[in-house]
Amino acid sequence: MANENVIRANEIVGNDLVKALKRRGFEAEYVPTGEEALKRVLELVPENASVGIPGTVTVRAIGALDALKARGNVIYQHWGPMTNEERRIARDRENGADVFLTSANAVTREGQIINIDGTGNRVAGMAWGNGLVLFVVGINKLAFDLTDGLKRAKSATIPNAIRQHVDTACVKAGHCVNCSVSGNEDSMCRAILILDQAVKGRKYHVIVVGENLGY
Ligand code: SF4
Repeated sequence: MANENVIRANEIVGNDLVKALKRRGFEAEYVPTGEEALKRVLELVPENASVGIPGTVTVRAIGALDALKARGNVIYQHWGPMTNEERRIARDRENGADVFLTSANAVTREGQIINIDGTGNRVAGMAWGNGLVLFVVGINKLAFDLTDGLKRAKSATIPNAIRQHVDTACVKAGHCVNCSVSGNEDSMCRAILILDQAVKGRKYHVIVVGENLGY
């Protein structure tokens, strides 16, 4: 069980982040636990909505995918074994769904949302989602500023690469070696999206969770 001081500290920091996100045009709220976050996801996603879920550990960790599926929401995802063509179609469907449900690699304390992608589908969905773009973000994703946020976002690459069985240069070295400058075939850091404000015409909701979730 988390220490009470940590719970209180996360609440203060999380609510400050919510204010910063709101100043930038994102709807946002703080919840203390992954369990509460799941409850809010189920309230925010309409029961008849299709839901696109890209490569996100957080959303799966709180049980959102299973819960949405169980109550009848149509889920699009490219997780698990499939052919390249099936994966391409699944990614297109995710981005065209009524709700794009994802996490973030980092969020600055000023409310900027940072993500790094190898294929670009996830960052495309965040900038050009068809309907509601819903983020679930653990407090561990908080970064001091953009420089810190980019470092934080790249730090997620090693566990992500291991999960996807990709032998990136950072997996071999144990740290980022900026492999993009050498045109590395296995680079997972090819597209960087900084949502500096809510994008015009898009609808965003960020659930900040006072627990460590995802990488
Ligand atoms: S080594 Fe390459 S793939 Fe790994 S974090 Fe750095 S830029 Fe990304």
